[in-house]
Amino acid sequence: MSAHFEQTPASVLARLDALREGDAPTHGGRVLSYVYDSGVAELDELAASAIRAVQPVNALDPTTFTSVAAMEREVIGFARAVFHGDEQVVGTVTSGGTESCLLTVKTARELWRADAARRGTPAGTVVPRILAPSTVHAAFHKAADYFGLRLELVPVDPESGRPLAADFAALLAGADDVALVVLSAPAYPHGVLDPIAEVSALAAAAGVSCHVDACFGGFVLPWWPGVDAASWDLQLPGVTSLSADLHKYGYAPKGASVLLQRGRDRQRQQYFATTGWPGYPVVNSTLLGSKSAAALAAAWAITQTLGASGFARLTESCARATAALADTITGIDGLRVVGHPTGPAIAVAVDESVPAERRVDPHHWADQARTHGWQLQLQPGFTQSDGTRLPPTAHLTVTPVTESRLAELTTALVAAADEVRGVPAVDVTPLLASLGGAFGGALPAALDAASAFALLQAIGLAPDAEGSPEAGAGGADAALPERLAPFLALVEALPPAVAEPLLTELIARLVEPA
Ligand SMILES: *Cc1c(COP(=O)(O)O)cnc(C)c1O
Repeated sequence: MSAHFEQTPASVLARLDALREGDAPTHGGRVLSYVYDSGVAELDELAASAIRAVQPVNALDPTTFTSVAAMEREVIGFARAVFHGDEQVVGTVTSGGTESCLLTVKTARELWRADAARRGTPAGTVVPRILAPSTVHAAFHKAADYFGLRLELVPVDPESGRPLAADFAALLAGADDVALVVLSAPAYPHGVLDPIAEVSALAAAAGVSCHVDACFGGFVLPWWPGVDAASWDLQLPGVTSLSADLHKYGYAPKGASVLLQRGRDRQRQQYFATTGWPGYPVVNSTLLGSKSAAALAAAWAITQTLGASGFARLTESCARATAALADTITGIDGLRVVGHPTGPAIAVAVDESVPAERRVDPHHWADQARTHGWQLQLQPGFTQSDGTRLPPTAHLTVTPVTESRLAELTTALVAAADEVRGVPAVDVTPLLASLGGAFGGALPAALDAASAFALLQAIGLAPDAEGSPEAGAGGADAALPERLAPFLALVEALPPAVAEPLLTELIARLVEPA
């Protein structure tokens, strides 16, 4: 059949190439978050070929597209082996860490509801809780929100980034409203491993589900130097589920994670099945219906090709680069590494033990590193439920490719620190006062789309009425200013009820047709 085209495919693809020029680089290690570069070009080619091979497949139905079941089975088998799951452990390949976390919470909620019913609790009278350290990934905030649970955050020690097992013990004692305990291996913000052995044992004793979120580190920790698998993985009997992202250190393109669950009956609560409509009988293991097999096929091809020994080699490179970077940063006057990271992430805070003129604000440092061509991730300071503060940090995710660029990166990090040493952190008090002024004295308690947009205009993050963006830099489509420190300081200072709609507006407007 011949088709009528309004544009040639070649011209459309040329436009895509042009659009991609504006993207941050996905390879070469210059972006120290979001992308996980193995540094092995062959693996990218392998992934592309695997994606092409399954491009038209609908992974909704593994009985019609049997390759999907075979690949998923083999990826789960690989993951179960490296995380020491026994034959009771079953699993699913999901679309990513967030989906693995959402399904974990959904599962725990169903099991808790069944227990509550057995105890005679009338349905809907108690909101079940999730207990997790403050550093737990935001995906669990989302899951609690979506599935109607309450997330109770357990403060971590600001120095070590770790929670106390005793705090979990106190919260679990006598409570029958806890549906799930979540621990991270390691937690994304600081790369620190939670006390999983201790807390999972407490959860087991209380009869509560316990998830290990190894989305970030799952595919490096089994080979990370000095890490005892018995301190975090499925050989701990109290761990009832574990997630690990294939699209992070599994080096697959985005769209793949593994969720392993202990016990078939537990895992079946993750599924949704219905015969209650006149169409085909529906059985979904994950949130989506029709879905791509692309990322699964890529992840399958990569795990098959690398095998455990291939992962071990890539992890060694990551670990050497992480240790070298941590040493470099510790040696920079005015900066310090937060806690003792276990895995390929480093959070860097100001070293307040030196006089003010020698301190380096991590957000100014990150902004300065960007001018040298390296993108660190800015993390805001955070006040915990007990009033303690986690400091603002710059986050570096280290990937195997980092090792080959270590000299350049080190030079840039040292230079950037020298260039901003002594510059105090952004003070947003004047800006907050002027914003309050723009809204007649006080910021509104809640923002609708129009007032959020007005606020964005007032701080120069959206085009003003005349259409000239005040602070837009880096091209017509750029939404953020070149310096992110003031923006982060503002996000940190604003109440969530203002900051969250503001951020939503910033992102939502990006895709509104002109
Ligand atoms: C990345 C991550 C997630 C969420 O994963 P996405 O793949 O971004 O959806 C959850 N937990 C941890 C610890 C992570 O690092």
